[in-house]
Amino acid sequence: MSRLFRAPPFPLRRPVPLPTLPPASPSRLTTRAVSILSPSQSARKTLLTRARPLRQKPSPLPPPPRPYATYRDPHGREIRPLITSDSVSRAARTPGTYVIIGIAVSGAFIFYFSNLETVPVSGRTRFNVYGSDTVREAGEMQYKATLYELERAGARILPDWDWKTVRVKRVMRKLIPFSGMAGENWEIFVIEDPHTANAFVLPGGKVFVFSGILPLARTDSALAAVLGHEIAHNVADHVGERMSAAIGTNIVLYSAMALVGFLGFGPLLMHWVGSRFLDIAFGNPMSRLQESEADYIGLMMMSEACYDPADAVEFWKRMEQAKGGEVSEWLSTHPSNVSRIKRIQEWLPEAMEKRQNSDCHTTTAFADLFRRALSQGIIVI
Ligand SMILES: [Zn+2]
Repeated sequence: MSRLFRAPPFPLRRPVPLPTLPPASPSRLTTRAVSILSPSQSARKTLLTRARPLRQKPSPLPPPPRPYATYRDPHGREIRPLITSDSVSRAARTPGTYVIIGIAVSGAFIFYFSNLETVPVSGRTRFNVYGSDTVREAGEMQYKATLYELERAGARILPDWDWKTVRVKRVMRKLIPFSGMAGENWEIFVIEDPHTANAFVLPGGKVFVFSGILPLARTDSALAAVLGHEIAHNVADHVGERMSAAIGTNIVLYSAMALVGFLGFGPLLMHWVGSRFLDIAFGNPMSRLQESEADYIGLMMMSEACYDPADAVEFWKRMEQAKGGEVSEWLSTHPSNVSRIKRIQEWLPEAMEKRQNSDCHTTTAFADLFRRALSQGIIVI
């Protein structure tokens, strides 16, 4: 054992004495350092030194070498851009690209046809991506925004006991059972503003009526034509249809919303995204097709609710006369014209038939009898 750990005979090899160099002068040291550079770099350095402006004061010390002058790619490769027009056009011609385009186009077709649906009452086929829950949420956001705007403008919402509110609620109570939306959480707001002839119903059952429209809707049937038209926009889910029509913008919006959620940005960006969403849904007037559809559905609804559809024509005539006056706000989003009145007149026989089939005759006859008895003093309340 002790042999294993015995130290080897020392020294194994005799130490080689280092060669002694002659003492170097500072100028020779500098020459050696510069000689590390390649010939081209040396030339470049010389050029850089020569290109120095003449006005500069000559420094007693030589300038330090510039860092980029000594850089060199270790593999001697050239640096090229990753994406060029050539590489893009080459990639576009590959079979893989055609497959991807084919899949995308087929996907778009499948997406479109799988989201087609039929509008209630009118029977029109249309493209709609959004479910009722999404539209109701958009309506809820718009409802809060509307209340905030009204409050900021100092608008006065009339109390329940005001005769204008009583009138609007009376007509709404009769229309709602025939709207197919009896399950909504209906809320009615009548705003005191004689200079604004406007009315709208938001998804989710929030009804806003500005008092300026009431003198134009002289009878309850005429008011039923206004409210029936506005409810019809919700029956036909025109808001969802508009949001679906702006599908390209929606993709950008949803991406922005996802990004905002992912990055954890604050409520400011969410507010911006939300306001853009509302702009699409409620910012622009409905299309002519949607307006006409709302006219038809509203007319059938008011007829089923036992109102006189002929009053709808009278109302639109009055609106036409009021055009250009102070009360034109509703007209700006609801174009009233001769062709619209003509169309409603064409639908009148069908509407009358609905009214007859809705067992209104008995109700109307009873109401007429009651009114006559009241006027003759037979009944005293
Ligand atoms: Zn409308």
